[in-house]
Amino acid sequence: MTDRIRIALVGAAGRMGRAIIDIADSEGAEVVARMDLNDPLVATNADALIDFSSAAAAESVCRAAATSNAALVIGTTGHSPKEKKIIETAAHKIPVVLASNFSVGVNVLFSLTEQAAKILGDDFDLEIIEVHHRLKKDAPSGTATTLTEILRRVRRSNSLRHGREGMVGAREKTEIGVHSVRGGDVVGDHTVIFAGNGERLELTHRASSRETFARGAVRAARWLIGKSPRLYNMRDVLGL
Ligand code: NAD
Repeated sequence: MTDRIRIALVGAAGRMGRAIIDIADSEGAEVVARMDLNDPLVATNADALIDFSSAAAAESVCRAAATSNAALVIGTTGHSPKEKKIIETAAHKIPVVLASNFSVGVNVLFSLTEQAAKILGDDFDLEIIEVHHRLKKDAPSGTATTLTEILRRVRRSNSLRHGREGMVGAREKTEIGVHSVRGGDVVGDHTVIFAGNGERLELTHRASSRETFARGAVRAARWLIGKSPRLYNMRDVLGL
């Protein structure tokens, strides 16, 4: 491990915040500031600010990182278009990694999904199913949204179908189905279904621990420090 990095953490009392605190030392990082609701957000003395809080915190998070010239790693999901714009603007001044999922496996799933969609072509129907714990607030998950964006780009489709109920009629060819299941303590499962005539391909990733996201976020911070201001994603970090 090279030099220790100093991290300011937003959402420190949450599930992901606690996971980062647990693994920081073993990833060569020191959490120098732990912030949660009701704390003023600052990144003084930090090389990087890591955010796992809520989308509503985007503006304060960006301001805190930009003021201290700290690299910014955002793991929070569910941002509105306005909040995304704020993040993109901050990325003109500081380097930012915005990633809906920090696990290596899911980022390989992103690449495989793109590859499969290109190879299989328009005759395969596309559906995404995600499963998360009962306390998750946003739906569909940020990871499912990234998968959706990949499929939309490859298939040039704007037609999303979030769940089905009643006499919805036959499936449109261009439709991309997205389905969110909530329950128990599931850390995060994602399946992309490519359903054709006489065959079906399913790509599934299952996360069984938050540790993988936490380690990925700290690795992203280490990679990001000293990079040029720009909006990066986890595939940039992993070189995929
Ligand atoms: P959580 O609810 O357990 O924790 C969120 C924490 O942030 C809480 O302690 C809350 O009090 C705090 N918080 C909320 N609003 C805040 C604000 N404005 N300022 C400061 N603190 C604030 O949630 P979690 O499971 O830790 O997930 C947090 C976020 O990270 C969610 O958006 C989730 O979807 C996302 N997430 C991303 C990944 C990934 O790999 N990118 C993995 C897991 C979770």
